[in-house]
Amino acid sequence: MYVFVLSKTGKRLMPTHAAKARKLLKAKKAKIVSRNPFTIQLTYETAEYTQKLAAKLDTGFKRGGVALQSNSKITFQGEIVHRRYINQPTKGQVLVVRRQRRRARRYRLRYRAPRFANRRRPEGWLPPTIKAKADAQINVLKVLAKYAPVTKAIIEVGSFDTHKMQNPDIKPEDYQNGRQKGFKNVKEYVKCRDKHCIHCGAEIEEVHHLKQKVKGGTDNPDNLVALCGKCHRLVTLGKLKLSIAPSKELKGAAFINAAKDYIVSEVKKFIPEVVTQEGWQTKEERERLNLPKSHVNNAIAMGTSGQSIYVPDIPVYEIRPRQRAVRQQYMSEPKKGGIFKRYRHPWQSTAGIKRGDLCRDVKTGQLVRADTLLANGKLNVRVLKTGQRLVNATPNRLQIVERAKGLMFIPRKEAEPALLP
Ligand SMILES: [Zn+2]
Repeated sequence: MYVFVLSKTGKRLMPTHAAKARKLLKAKKAKIVSRNPFTIQLTYETAEYTQKLAAKLDTGFKRGGVALQSNSKITFQGEIVHRRYINQPTKGQVLVVRRQRRRARRYRLRYRAPRFANRRRPEGWLPPTIKAKADAQINVLKVLAKYAPVTKAIIEVGSFDTHKMQNPDIKPEDYQNGRQKGFKNVKEYVKCRDKHCIHCGAEIEEVHHLKQKVKGGTDNPDNLVALCGKCHRLVTLGKLKLSIAPSKELKGAAFINAAKDYIVSEVKKFIPEVVTQEGWQTKEERERLNLPKSHVNNAIAMGTSGQSIYVPDIPVYEIRPRQRAVRQQYMSEPKKGGIFKRYRHPWQSTAGIKRGDLCRDVKTGQLVRADTLLANGKLNVRVLKTGQRLVNATPNRLQIVERAKGLMFIPRKEAEPALLP
C-alpha cells in the first residue's frame, strides 16, 4: 500500500510505501494530515523533487475506475462506486421526498402570481442524476491532485452512438427517421409494433414495462410490450412469466455522452494536461496487458500503449461518494403553517458527532466510525480494523479524530463497512 506524502512546506511529494510511512511516523519525522485517503506530512526538510504522475480515469455510469501511474508503476488503484437509487421511490428516496415536500409546500399557498420565462436552463446544464455522477468522478481526481503531484490526467470518454448500438447497419439518413417517427407517442408505437397481446394474441389493452419503472426501467420501446388485460394482470401478479427479456439498456451510454465534455472541462481547471481516449483504445491496451475486464483494470491499462506496466500488490480502494447530511425538512413531517415536527432520529449530529465521523473510542483506544445516530442520544459505531459493531455507545466515550468527507476511500483488504448506500 502506498500513502500520500506532503513536504514540510506542504508541497505534494511522490506517494511512498506504507512501511516507510510507518517508520517515519514512529520516529516522529512525519505526522498524519488525512486518514481518508491516508496522507502524511514530513516534519523535516527534504528535497522537493517529484516525477511525472498521471491520474487515469475510466468514467462509468454505475462504477468507474481510477489509477495513479508514475513511470511504469501503479501507485494507486481504486473503483468509484456511485450512489444509486437517489431518484427511485423504493430506495433512498431523497429526490422523491424532496419533490413531494415541495409540491405540498406550494399547494399550501392559495395564490401565486403567474411566472413565465423562468424556465430556461443555464448553459451546460446536466440532469441532476448525471451531474452527481460526473461530479463524483471529478472530485476523486481533485482529491488525488490535492495529495499527489499529478501532472497529467487521462480520461476515457467513449462517444456512444445509441442508434448504432441498436441497429448496426444504420444508414446516415436513418438518424433523422427513428422508428417512432409518425407516431403520437411511445404507447402508440408499441401497440402498432406488437399488433396483438404478445403472449396470447388477444386484443391489446395494456402496455407493460418489462423492467419496472420503480426498478429503474425506462420508457424506451425496447422495455415495453403490448399485453391484453388478462395477461397483464397475471404478469403483474407474478403468475405469468413472459419469455421476452428486457433488452440492453442505453442509460450508461447516455450518461457518458452527456457528461464527457463537462468532466473534461472541469478537470482541466486543476490538472494542467488532460488527454482523452476512447473505449476501444482502452480495451486494446487492457487486452495487450492480459488484464481481466474491470473498471480498475481499464484505468490501469489506459495510456500504456507500447510500454509495460508494473502493478504492485496494493489494495484496491473502494471510493464511495456519500450523503453528508439530510436537509432537516426532508426528515421531518411538515404541518400546516410551516411547522416542522421532528421525527424518528436526530438529523444532523449527536453531541457534535455526525454520521461517518472517525472517532477514537476512549475506553479501548480503537478507531471507530459513527454509523447511526440513535433517538436516545447514543450512537452505533463500527470498529475500523475489525468491522465489529458497537451498539448504544455513549457520545462521551468518543473523541472525533477526523470528520467524515464527501468521498470515502476504503482499502478493500481492510474491514471497513459500507456506511451508506
Ligand atoms: Zn393476452
